[in-house]
Amino acid sequence: MAGQDGNLSAVLKRKDELVLENTPVPKPGKNEVQIRMQRVGICGSDVHYLRHGRCGPFIVEAPMILGHESSGIVSELGEGVTNLKVGDRVAIEPGVPCRVCSFCKDGRYHLCPDVIFCATPPVDGSLRRYYTHAADFCFKIPDHVSLDEAALLEPLSVGVHACKRANITLGHKVLVCGAGPIGLVSMLSAKAMGAAEVVITDLDKKRLAKAKEIGATYTVQVDSKDPKIVAKKVEDALGAMPDATIECSGAEPSIQLALRVTRSGGVVVLVGLGPNEMTTVPLVDAAVREVDIRGVFRYCNDYPTALSMVASGQVNVKSLITHNFDIKQTVEAFEAARMGNGIKVMIHCGQEK
Ligand code: NAD
Ligand code: ZN
Repeated sequence: MAGQDGNLSAVLKRKDELVLENTPVPKPGKNEVQIRMQRVGICGSDVHYLRHGRCGPFIVEAPMILGHESSGIVSELGEGVTNLKVGDRVAIEPGVPCRVCSFCKDGRYHLCPDVIFCATPPVDGSLRRYYTHAADFCFKIPDHVSLDEAALLEPLSVGVHACKRANITLGHKVLVCGAGPIGLVSMLSAKAMGAAEVVITDLDKKRLAKAKEIGATYTVQVDSKDPKIVAKKVEDALGAMPDATIECSGAEPSIQLALRVTRSGGVVVLVGLGPNEMTTVPLVDAAVREVDIRGVFRYCNDYPTALSMVASGQVNVKSLITHNFDIKQTVEAFEAARMGNGIKVMIHCGQEK
């Protein structure tokens, strides 16, 4: 049953034109569920689509519903669904792969070339009252986990995946570059995965204050483009070079810092997506010190880990939410996200907790 305003949806008509309008209530197909949406967090990529009509290689060429960091309540089962029932509260993993290509068969389904990802053109996202999704990419949450936390499993899974790629383990000293939402979830994940100390950098004092408040051991404000100067501050804070660095800004000076400051034999993971071509990175210095440089693309089999971490209290993601809006205030919510004054802007598509 649709609500009074049917399937109110946040439709990006074209660059700079976001409107709320009713779209058809979708019926779940085979192995899909229909979800009465509850929370959708705004991601930097959603804001990018709104402001620039594109994000990296993905271009908005036709109207598209935004949103992919989401949670809701199962409202109808499609044929063949056995893992969920109507009324289950679920976190939604937004990318559904083909399940049959070599990447999917290898267990690295996030690299599937045919992955269908919410709110990546031309695929519609989940910022609406009703949405359908593959049942096996919906994770039932326990009663004590909130729908806010369920929506935040999406960015948290990026942090979990980055830490797994960085081989974070007990006692590690870790550098996280950039204290935006992704840097913060990486910091939280690193601590939960056993890191003894985490130092986080940013240009912005307010973001560093938030990082400190939610658990960073040390913060370093980047006030110089010279990576040598920032490297010294990082080493002074940790008393050593970091075992691993998780780069979450995409800025070239920060990537230079990551490669330079990570200890010999350590790992640098590149999460931040900056310009494709970098002009000067100290690659050979990193190579001769056997610093492994690894890419990170979203997550893969990380939702269950992220959910266990939240459900057990190992990480507190709720502290990332700085703004809340009703779906009817979506345009204002995007304006708040664009201003960048907070960390996570959460949109309420329903009133459940
Ligand atoms: P954000 O823009 O909110 O945060 C980036 C932070 O980096 C900002 O706080 C900014 O002040 C800081 N920064 C900029 N230059 C810096 C420098 N030289 N040193 C230190 N900090 C610096 O973005 P976000 O949502 O946190 O995402 C971070 C990055 O991760 C983006 O590039 C995003 O595209 C990328 N991302 C990648 C994946 C993936 O799968 N690889 C997934 C999600 C996001
Ligand atoms: Zn595939």
